Amino acid sequence: MVLTAGVVAVQGDVDEHADAIDRAARERGLEVEIREIRDAGIVPDCDLLAMPGGESTTISRLLHRGGIAPEIRAHVAADKPLLATCAGLIVASSDPNDDRVDELGLLDVGVERNAFGRQKDSFEAPLDVAGLDEPYPAVFIRAPAIESVGDAAVLATWDDRPVAVRDGPVVGTAFHPELTPDSRVHDLAFFGNDDATVPALEDAA
Ligand code: GLN
Repeated sequence: MVLTAGVVAVQGDVDEHADAIDRAARERGLEVEIREIRDAGIVPDCDLLAMPGGESTTISRLLHRGGIAPEIRAHVAADKPLLATCAGLIVASSDPNDDRVDELGLLDVGVERNAFGRQKDSFEAPLDVAGLDEPYPAVFIRAPAIESVGDAAVLATWDDRPVAVRDGPVVGTAFHPELTPDSRVHDLAFFGNDDATVPALEDAA
């Protein structure tokens, strides 16, 4: 069985996410077909979804205008996994603290955009992530901070602020797990989440 993975492709590191999903799947002995999501009608075919970084205002506007937003909500309501990174986390959150972002409300956290500084303040940090044995090399680029956590579980913190969270089938990271060759965060989000349903995972086990 071949899994179908969707990468929201209105902006951001689409190819890098596709590669990371492919690597994570292979390591589990799974085959995956990647679909780029620019229009409505593709998400319903996807077993798992990644929503990359970029500019949260732009991404949220295009998702709502294109009719993709309700499909992503239905995907999560069906307990299928979603990994939302950086701007994707802001869009997925329940409170972006910015009226220009039309949030999806899939991750019960409030965020502050650009909380770790500007582009020039980008950094990499070894992050202890719940569920991973060794620190994860996390790349932060104009990253948001998670300022309040409702029902979500905190998976990692940096500088005393949550930077990775899980709310049922949704995992959100303030950093960019697609920018390193290490695909453990993709694995955790898609194949290591007990609250998410992925067909074929049981067959491959
Ligand atoms: N600063 C961006 C925003 O607020 C997110 C940055 C990123 O995705 N690298 O939308």
